[in-house]
Amino acid sequence: MRILISNDDGIYSPGIVSLAKAASRFGEVRIIAPDVEQSSMSHAITSSRPLRFKRVHRLEFDAYSVNGTPADCVALGMHRWGHVDLVLSGINLGLNLGNSCWHSGTLAAAKQAALLGARGIAFSTNVSDNTPLEGAAKGTDRWAVEHNWVSITPLRLDLTDEADLSRALAVSNPPAAKATKKRTSVGRSRKRRR
Ligand code: MN
Repeated sequence: MRILISNDDGIYSPGIVSLAKAASRFGEVRIIAPDVEQSSMSHAITSSRPLRFKRVHRLEFDAYSVNGTPADCVALGMHRWGHVDLVLSGINLGLNLGNSCWHSGTLAAAKQAALLGARGIAFSTNVSDNTPLEGAAKGTDRWAVEHNWVSITPLRLDLTDEADLSRALAVSNPPAAKATKKRTSVGRSRKRRR
């Protein structure tokens, strides 16, 4: 199994080596990550300048740094390696929980894998005792971690609000019976005018 490892903390983060070591028990590992920290870059991609990569030394691993974002790294890494079975992102030094899923570059690397047809998993861990501004509601990922649990949240790319879409379709496409009645009414009014 080919496992591509990335992150948003940068190629020299200790977290990425820890993840690569763990992943190497399950398959062939390659590391590709930003050359500098790209935390909170979300799913940004580089489109206005050339993207460059170079081989770097990270223990025994086949590793590359990229002058781009986490999403760039995964797209480039999957393209260069050919078939990739799994992309692992992290281990981020800081939690990617709650609302941070919207700006996390760590999570974006896993999302980029999904966009390209592979499985992606993002990992993060707490490295600070500093408390969020608001308390965590029971049952959420933040609540679980605050109570010393590991939180695993399955996510998907489709953000469509299906309920709202159904309501909009019902307004723009009324049932056939109502449409027939409306046409009949128009016909009668025309007859009256004559
Ligand atoms: Mn980070």
